[in-house]
Amino acid sequence: MINFLKNIFELWFPQSCVVCNTQVMQYAKYPLCSHCEQKLYPIIEPSCKKCGRPLISEQDLCMECRRKCYEFTRLVPIFQYRTQIHSVLIAYKGKGIQTLVYYFAKCIYDRLCVLAWNVYPLVPVPPRKGKIKHHGWDQVALLANVLEKNYRILILRILYRNKPGVEQKKLDRMNRTTLIHGQFSIITTKKSLPGTIVLFDDVVTTGATINECARVLKKHGCSTIYALAVAID
Ligand SMILES: [Zn+2]
Ligand SMILES: [Zn+2]
Repeated sequence: MINFLKNIFELWFPQSCVVCNTQVMQYAKYPLCSHCEQKLYPIIEPSCKKCGRPLISEQDLCMECRRKCYEFTRLVPIFQYRTQIHSVLIAYKGKGIQTLVYYFAKCIYDRLCVLAWNVYPLVPVPPRKGKIKHHGWDQVALLANVLEKNYRILILRILYRNKPGVEQKKLDRMNRTTLIHGQFSIITTKKSLPGTIVLFDDVVTTGATINECARVLKKHGCSTIYALAVAID
């Protein structure tokens, strides 16, 4: 009976793939056809041991990470932003196709398990205030909710923004780092935070936001801070 109703529903409201626009398989949780999903290649080895960007000729660390010091131990982005994943992220973040959360949650959970980070609490990076106003919802928070509910990942919602952030894309790399300093605080009723946590964001650009969040968490007693992102630009 339920299947029958589902069939009727899909006849009335067919979903189409957000990449190629063909109709997706019945009962699909998210609007991505299997053909396009298989073509969403994650970053593969060799990648930078610090920021996770793909490496071409370098070893262990990319050129950028050789010059920089970070507060976090390691950042792992799953995808490179400017690849096929771009249109899926645009559909999720820009066009508000929220059912894509199930695709991203699956990718994140699988990667957490491969890294053996699924045992640590996840700390979502809070959005800029203007972002919520613009989109009407928080893409990272929705992902965190699904990871908590469907995959039993412990989520610690302890980070918040002190003041509205400046749109990062409009700033050059140097300005980003200085402006982001002091933007985050911790709200918690716990006396001490866990020693190891995993910061979590959707798209990372310079890593300045992740680094600042890690700095604040360290000040509150976290010693090992990993970071996971859907994509790196
Ligand atoms: Zn497709
Ligand atoms: Zn790097």
